[in-house]
Amino acid sequence: MGKEILLGKSLNELTQVVKDLGLPKFTAKQIADWLYKKDVTEIDQMTNLSLKARTALKEKYDFGTTASTKVQESVDGTKKYLYPTNHENKFIETAYIPDNDRNTLCVSSQVGCKMGCLFCMTGKQGFQGQLSSGEIINQIRSLPERENLTNIVYMGMGEPLDNVPEVLKSLEILTSDYGMAMSPRRITVSTIGIIPGMVEFLDNSECHLAVSLHSPFDDERKKLMPVQNVYPIKDVLKIIKDFDFGRQRRVSFEYIMFKGINDTAQHVKELCRILDGIKCRINLIRFHPIPNTPLDGSDDQTIEYFKDQLNKKGITTTIRRSRGLDIFAACGLLSTKELVKQQE
Ligand code: SF4
Repeated sequence: MGKEILLGKSLNELTQVVKDLGLPKFTAKQIADWLYKKDVTEIDQMTNLSLKARTALKEKYDFGTTASTKVQESVDGTKKYLYPTNHENKFIETAYIPDNDRNTLCVSSQVGCKMGCLFCMTGKQGFQGQLSSGEIINQIRSLPERENLTNIVYMGMGEPLDNVPEVLKSLEILTSDYGMAMSPRRITVSTIGIIPGMVEFLDNSECHLAVSLHSPFDDERKKLMPVQNVYPIKDVLKIIKDFDFGRQRRVSFEYIMFKGINDTAQHVKELCRILDGIKCRINLIRFHPIPNTPLDGSDDQTIEYFKDQLNKKGITTTIRRSRGLDIFAACGLLSTKELVKQQE
């Protein structure tokens, strides 16, 4: 059997690790420092641990960082990294998006996805496995640009709230003093509205929430996102309305604009109605066509008009710039399906 990995373990778990090995309790905090704050990748480099402690650790554990095996760079500076996972021959993608003084990393939470959204390449790939907290943290920890990172969004491959335990643990490590000590205000978790997961996330984290809305109408949303059959958006919004987000925590809604489908005046009106009472913003996203889809993106003029109408009605609305289109790193385009096929 392979060794367990240390990366991705919370301080509580590390405390248990050192206890099981008969090491002093304070060793757990020292290991966390090496894992999350320092620039090393081997247990042997944990130089403030005794030789005995390092030897005991190495017998059962690996450090756990994994370097990216491929990087592609877009003309706009966006980079897409490919990382191997613990699932045999399965890979994930991570997008690094530099933008003036804001450098965002879009991390994956699953290999593929089981949610089947009509407009998404990852959805077309299907589900191949959950990522562990260590595999989520590794996307940040092994990123060559990690020192420049200002923001992290859980918007890569997978539905984060379909993998709640590992996502929550990764958020704890990112935001704790013992871990990477990032402000939760710099982290956004995106969901299509998996209600049980969303409630757990809201209760156990202070990070921002983004909900993929895409249509305010039941029938239309069902066609775009099968999740609407299980967790209707009206139920998702009820929970958000009743939740106290406080002054600093944000909720936003993602809205991909599809030509002739969800970009009309009725949609503006219905959006205003269903979002009434929620302090939020809407991010409009251009649709990036994927193979074999009946969908088409709204034109720029329509998107601008839609934005203006929502802003006039008092909902802060922005248009998200498309990034990394030429390397398939833009929203909805991440997929490692071809790699999975090649390995089969
Ligand atoms: Fe999964 Fe998100 Fe793609 Fe839907 S949009 S299929 S939830 S990755």
